[in-house]
Amino acid sequence: MAKRNRIPFLFLFVQNRPFTHRNRRAKGVVRSRTGYYAVTNINTGVLIALLLTAFGGWSLADPLISLVIALYIIKSAIGLAHESINVLMDRSLPVEIDRTIAEIVARYRTMGVRGFHDLRTRRSGSQKFIDLHLEVDRDKRFEEAHGLTVRVLRAIEAEIPRSKVHIHSDPVE
Ligand SMILES: [Zn+2]
Repeated sequence: MAKRNRIPFLFLFVQNRPFTHRNRRAKGVVRSRTGYYAVTNINTGVLIALLLTAFGGWSLADPLISLVIALYIIKSAIGLAHESINVLMDRSLPVEIDRTIAEIVARYRTMGVRGFHDLRTRRSGSQKFIDLHLEVDRDKRFEEAHGLTVRVLRAIEAEIPRSKVHIHSDPVE
């Protein structure tokens, strides 16, 4: 009885090894350790089940731990899929970023920055891309307007980590 029960566990153990290695190697794409931890925990479960069936003679350990492992695999798979989708899809940044940008732009109001529009944010991997139109007082000289744009751009990049900002300036009344 105990001998027959060991087969699916051993199969699972062997099956999971290449998965672990593949995860370690795929550093460039998704630096996720979730997969690795999932496999480590599953292997611990396998060991406990083997010990319980082999030495404890508790026949219920096999189906119970199998069920727990199955649920754990499903849970990890969902977690990994969610993480990968977030990385692969262009997602806009959280609203707090919009607020931070508005706050930074407002600091330059007295210098001739009237506001901004067409703000677009997106995340690509760990990088944040921010695009906006800056409204600069039309009476400013070209050099001054350019200087202001650069200052706003650098302020945003300095305050939002890993951000790449692109600003197009519009003259306003
Ligand atoms: Zn515009």
